[in-house]
Amino acid sequence: NDNPEYNIPVAVNNAVFSKVPTEPLAGKLHLVCVSEDALTDILDLDPTVAESDEFVDFVGGKYLPEGALSVCHRYGGYQFGYWADQLGDGRAHILGEYLNRNGQLWQLQLKGSGETPYSRFGDGRAVLRSSIREMVASEACFYLGVPTTRAAALVVSDDHKVWRDKTYSGKARQERAAVVLRLANAWYRIGSFEILLKRREPDLACKLADFIITYHFPAIKITDENRYVKLFSEVAHRNLDMVAKWQGLGFTHGVLNTDNISLLGLTIDYGPYGFMEHYYKHYVPNSSDDMGRYAYKMQPEIVLWNLDKFAEALIPILTVEQIQEVREIQSMLAEYVENRIRNVFNLKLGLENYEVGDDLLVNELLDLMEDTMADFTATFRQLAEIKLEELSDANNQFENYWSLKKVSTGKKWQQWVKKYQQRIHLENIGEEERRKRTTIVNPIYVPRNWILQDAIADAEQNDFKKVRHLLEVLKEPFKLNEEAEKLGYSSQPPSWSFGLKLSCSS
Ligand code: AMP
Ligand code: MG
Ligand code: MG
Repeated sequence: NDNPEYNIPVAVNNAVFSKVPTEPLAGKLHLVCVSEDALTDILDLDPTVAESDEFVDFVGGKYLPEGALSVCHRYGGYQFGYWADQLGDGRAHILGEYLNRNGQLWQLQLKGSGETPYSRFGDGRAVLRSSIREMVASEACFYLGVPTTRAAALVVSDDHKVWRDKTYSGKARQERAAVVLRLANAWYRIGSFEILLKRREPDLACKLADFIITYHFPAIKITDENRYVKLFSEVAHRNLDMVAKWQGLGFTHGVLNTDNISLLGLTIDYGPYGFMEHYYKHYVPNSSDDMGRYAYKMQPEIVLWNLDKFAEALIPILTVEQIQEVREIQSMLAEYVENRIRNVFNLKLGLENYEVGDDLLVNELLDLMEDTMADFTATFRQLAEIKLEELSDANNQFENYWSLKKVSTGKKWQQWVKKYQQRIHLENIGEEERRKRTTIVNPIYVPRNWILQDAIADAEQNDFKKVRHLLEVLKEPFKLNEEAEKLGYSSQPPSWSFGLKLSCSS
């Protein structure tokens, strides 16, 4: 679709992309931060290019690289369980694809780069705080081993202001606009097919499916009659692998609508997400999710729900037998993700083999953590670092250090440690091996909301040191960082941050 008047909100038909020019950020621009690895490893750039005005202007949407074409993706989606109709890239522009020296195709995307046919009620812009949160979390998730879209650079304008109602108060205020340069092999979502279902465009759905298979699922043969069934299976398993990883890190996405579920199984659209601090099954980082639909513990079930919507969207391009095959695959997905999560938690305890009773062992630990409001990340890390013998003696030392609530767990803690020791014994590994296994999966640092808030407050004053430092620290989340320790990044979160929630306003 290339109607040149299309940077106004409009219902688009029969298109997967709309050709739309970016609208440059106005005023004086600052480079907030870059991901040097993303620039080097993905875009084959020398990171010093980021220091040039030219690069900053490029991220600010002022011009396109040679050969680039800026397009916005059309998609729909179910938001909080209800069909929301056309959504699409309302403030993002895909700048075409780059084939890097490793032979990988990467789609560059600006987010916050102006209005598009898909802007609906929005202004096409993104503010600094949410852009910092997106930039930091995408890179952090990458280093934590979570499949994710990447972020290469972030610029902010001194002068370009937009209106936002920032918090619960609902009071509108002006904030500075920013743009993030995001990267992914592709930005397709479940919603990419849903819009084609709802608008009855099955021919386009076939074309899109074939295109996605050709370029992003080379293991599926384009001549295979069952290729759409295989596509479903692959998308499903990738997303379930992803959610299992989230569960193991306490990552809670916050807005798991079908338009935010990538067909490549990547974590996309970092909005009001949160890395859970004290363990709480019903943790909800998004202040507008009153029902807790997207609570931490709900995520696997919600991804399954979303995959059901994906299956539904494929129906017009499947035969009756194939629909049945998809149903059969679906009937095994709940068990699949349960196993993946089980495996993730077992590994967090250093257990590679699965034994009957392991679920109980994990759940008892989580229950103890929930009762004492123990910090999720820190508890697992401390468990990884401490010698088990020490742990059984100094039980209170361990508990008190990480628990917000000083409640006695009676003998439960000691009993649990004993059980864990016996289980490690059964695994037939020594203390050294246990620690080796557990310190590589239990991070010291995750982007906690309070750390982000702190870095954002400085960045609002054009002091970007903390954001940049945070990105550095999160490159090696499993390694002790002295500077980060001084800032308390692995310690008990400060009291002001307790129960911090994020609004969708971004
Ligand atoms: P999200 O909840 O972030 O997944 O966004 C849902 C939809 O709203 C997507 O189609 C976005 O492109 C669109 N959107 C969000 N914020 C804005 C904005 N400021 N301007 C235009 N569109 C927006
Ligand atoms: Mg989205
Ligand atoms: Mg968003």
